[in-house]
Amino acid sequence: MLSDRVQRIGFSSTLRISSKAQQMRREGIDVINLSVGEPDFPTPENIKNAAKAALDKNYTKYTDNTGILELREAIARKYSDECSADYKPGEVIVSTGGKQCLFNACTALLNKGDEVIVPVPYWVSYPHMVNLAKGVPIYVNTREENGFRLTTEDLGRALSARTKAIILNNPCNPTGAAYNPDQLLKLIDVCMDEGLFIIADEIYEKLVYDGFEMKSVAAFGEKVRSKSIIVCGFSKSYAMTGWRLGYAVGPLELIQGMSKVQSHATSNPNSVAQWAGVEALTGPQHEIVRMRQEFEARRNFVIYKLNGMPHVSCNKPEGAFYAFPNFSWYYDKQFEGVPIRNSSGLAYYLLKHAHVALVPGDAFGADNFIRFSYATSQENLAIALDRVTEALAWLKPTTKAKRRALNNTVTKIKDYSELETAIEIEMRDALVSEAEAAMTYDRYHEWCANIGGVVVKMMTNSPHLIDFWTENWYPSPIESDLEPHGLLYGVKDAPGREARVFYNSQTRTGLTFNTAFYPQLRAMTLGIVDDIASRTFDMHLVVGSCFDVNGRGVALIAPPGTGGSTHFAGLMRRQEARLHSYDGFFVRQAGGSPIADSVERKFLIHTNLAGKLPELMPLFDRSKLENVVTKSDDCQAEKHLVSSECPLEQGAACCYEGSRNSFAILDPYWIGGSARHIKRTLLSSIILLKRDTMAPKVDKPSTDAALRIIEEGGYSMSHGRWFSVPFYNPYLLVSDAARMDLLRRQWNRLLDAVPLYIVNTESMELAEAKERIWEIINK
Ligand code: PMP
Repeated sequence: MLSDRVQRIGFSSTLRISSKAQQMRREGIDVINLSVGEPDFPTPENIKNAAKAALDKNYTKYTDNTGILELREAIARKYSDECSADYKPGEVIVSTGGKQCLFNACTALLNKGDEVIVPVPYWVSYPHMVNLAKGVPIYVNTREENGFRLTTEDLGRALSARTKAIILNNPCNPTGAAYNPDQLLKLIDVCMDEGLFIIADEIYEKLVYDGFEMKSVAAFGEKVRSKSIIVCGFSKSYAMTGWRLGYAVGPLELIQGMSKVQSHATSNPNSVAQWAGVEALTGPQHEIVRMRQEFEARRNFVIYKLNGMPHVSCNKPEGAFYAFPNFSWYYDKQFEGVPIRNSSGLAYYLLKHAHVALVPGDAFGADNFIRFSYATSQENLAIALDRVTEALAWLKPTTKAKRRALNNTVTKIKDYSELETAIEIEMRDALVSEAEAAMTYDRYHEWCANIGGVVVKMMTNSPHLIDFWTENWYPSPIESDLEPHGLLYGVKDAPGREARVFYNSQTRTGLTFNTAFYPQLRAMTLGIVDDIASRTFDMHLVVGSCFDVNGRGVALIAPPGTGGSTHFAGLMRRQEARLHSYDGFFVRQAGGSPIADSVERKFLIHTNLAGKLPELMPLFDRSKLENVVTKSDDCQAEKHLVSSECPLEQGAACCYEGSRNSFAILDPYWIGGSARHIKRTLLSSIILLKRDTMAPKVDKPSTDAALRIIEEGGYSMSHGRWFSVPFYNPYLLVSDAARMDLLRRQWNRLLDAVPLYIVNTESMELAEAKERIWEIINK
């Protein structure tokens, strides 16, 4: 259902840690929270009073989209006073937090494919903002030894013809690093020479220590201002995070663009907060001074303690309220047999055993580090740091051998793309020409598969697709002598195209463009083979799994949401059941009996099946994988948010349940050899799972009724919408009258020979449903 862009967003580490910390607190555990990103001070009284006054005056209506004039004037005055920068109120926009300013700026600035330099470690939201605006984040590492400051050399090396902008966070979250005026000037010079736009995030500008001279990008003159947007806000300087108020100053054209984006997203920010903002900027500033002094004292204490921990190093930050120590020495250690492999593992260990909530560096693109926020009292900091020191001492060297590296490919597109099947022959020829032009000879692969006797030739320039394809199918033995029955193109990097899929039935040609999501190619393959096989070999595809129990074949057809994987796992647990196929097999009639053939060499299996069959995990570890989650920041498994079962936090190299679209290509013989896998069986029952509050527990319709039920099929979800699936076959490529007629005849013949049972999983407890299914199979 979700767009590819949004699908790529996981539950962030910050959310995971704070959900778990909350859960522990509910259990009565005294967790100290050092994961917070906001000052622990109250909003100053004068600001609160200004908000009350605004309420009394009924300033509670929509305001100018870009904010009230009084506030924009106050902001312009601030930059004139502090930076001698001349901004007109029209060059100021007030938004719902600095965050919205950054989001609006990315949306207003970036075209698809524009590159944006993001220094690492980065604030967690930057990559997502760039991606959501269809830009491409280009990560440039900074080094601990350089105080986490970007060097001009590293910046220079990252530039390309597509680089449009850089995000400069000064001072930086999570490192606290800040650029002094000289250091900043050097970077600005490169940006100006290269024509880069600067997105300057200066939200922590007031929180700098040891008399550090903070100079805004706005203070570097007219030319720099014309190529920069300066983002700032009230959250940190005035302890106003919840008020959601931030602002940006920049060239008129961009401010107007951001204003358009904002007008269609939120309109003006909260009116009362805006009046409070006027007071914040124009009223007394001594609270800032007090807060800064307190933060400075805490920073000194925290850095001193962190550097005193064995094998920990911590850079002394110039600003913000975070320390970002290097804990990587502890990553190959273990606690009571549980290995710690990375920052999420260590953060999780420290939460569970030291009762301190921290954010793993992984979230900021820097896995060697852990972020400590010192926005909490000195007493809390002292206790927390002692607890961390103590817990580190409990870690022991690991004795177990390291797990081998995973063979995992992450694809850009992670769902089925739009499919067009009614294409004419002229269009087919044009698409084939386009495909051939896009695949240069030095990147070209072709390979013929024999799929139940149908030969399909696959041509691709995607190493991942050819890799999975050759694992998935049996080779066609006489490749060079044989005309393939069907043709398949898997084209990547076709210029000017979104991910799209086409099929022409007349020439049996399938084409996938700009998607390396393997399930798409497999679906297309099964669709082509089914189209060919049912017309020429009188054999047809049944989409479902199949087992053989003492020579009796049972097909399990389970539409989404009917408990298919649970019952599949249930059958896998029966020692007498031999797995025949996981998702689709071909049926043909021989000597009056329906023979089911498993046509795949290896099965493409949803890795989240490991949640139901943990014994598959070590097999997955050794298989080729697609889109398996390896960073806790990408994990989408809701159950791992609060539970303590997240494998990534337990030291595993990946989480098989972290995504709805992760797959393994698994050799079924690995499960239990030929005692547990069989390629051919005689079908003797078909079980259709259903969820229906009205229907009986088990129903055995007549052949005619069964045919109607199967023909009507069900619904399935793909590419964000539900589509009807006749014959429960989502891989069906052609559904004209002739094809439907043929399928009806083939299914009729099958249902004449084999009874269909409808098992209603809604009306029974799971255990009973399992028993009923087992009874049917053994009838
Ligand atoms: N930039 C950085 C670097 C931040 O740390 C934050 C807050 N965590 C923001 C921007 C956004 O702040 P707000 O939206 O509250 O103004």
